[in-house]
Amino acid sequence: MSDLNQNKIIIAIDGYSSCGKSTVAKEIAKKLNYIFIDSGAMYRAVTLYCLRAGMVVKGEINLPVLLENLKKIRITFVFNPVTAHNDVCLNGENVEQEIRQLAVAQNVSQIAAIGAVRQLLVAQQQEMGRSKGIVMDGRDIGTVVFPNAELKIFMTADARIRAQRRYDEMIAKNEPVDFDEILKNITERDRFDETREESPLRKAADAIVLDNSHMTRDEQFEWILKKVEERVS
Ligand code: C5P
Repeated sequence: MSDLNQNKIIIAIDGYSSCGKSTVAKEIAKKLNYIFIDSGAMYRAVTLYCLRAGMVVKGEINLPVLLENLKKIRITFVFNPVTAHNDVCLNGENVEQEIRQLAVAQNVSQIAAIGAVRQLLVAQQQEMGRSKGIVMDGRDIGTVVFPNAELKIFMTADARIRAQRRYDEMIAKNEPVDFDEILKNITERDRFDETREESPLRKAADAIVLDNSHMTRDEQFEWILKKVEERVS
């Protein structure tokens, strides 16, 4: 464990929607005493800004207005002592809960495909990793944000299993949801993220695949920790 703490690395976790990337990334970061950053939360916070400002009409983003307002969007993180993790803030307001709503999920991929939005957020993400000791999850972390990350993991799982997990999560929070709507959102987002021109979702050539369709949370945690130990030793 002493080596794990002394020799800090960057861990990039990419993969499909609702694979449990953030859940396992958080646990790994806690174990290693690393910073955890959910990069998807940053794209979701920008999306929330656009929705609130009425920039999305019938699913279409008003691009000129967004580009004009981009400088007004400030994304930061604040430590939440209850969960012991970083919550995302939009212009100083903690929006960690609000960004999980379906309306945000339904529009985020379109906004994340905009080059100027990515440039802004990628620069912030790279700054956060300057001292290493970071676990970041997203879609382009191993390919674009940290192409030199010491450990890259590409997570995947069967789409129906992912939808079921997200459904259970929302039901547990008493949110009214429809399974088919969640499945549709997940598969559409994956397709959109994989086929966009700007930093499409891709497995980095040197990433290791983790298919967690039939793995418990503990098994995933142990699997990743073993890979960390291999990289650090
Ligand atoms: O990870 P999460 O599902 O919260 O991400 C929401 C969306 O943000 C993704 O579907 C994707 O469109 C976008 N995203 C991205 N690049 C990242 C992280 C997320 O394009 N690094």
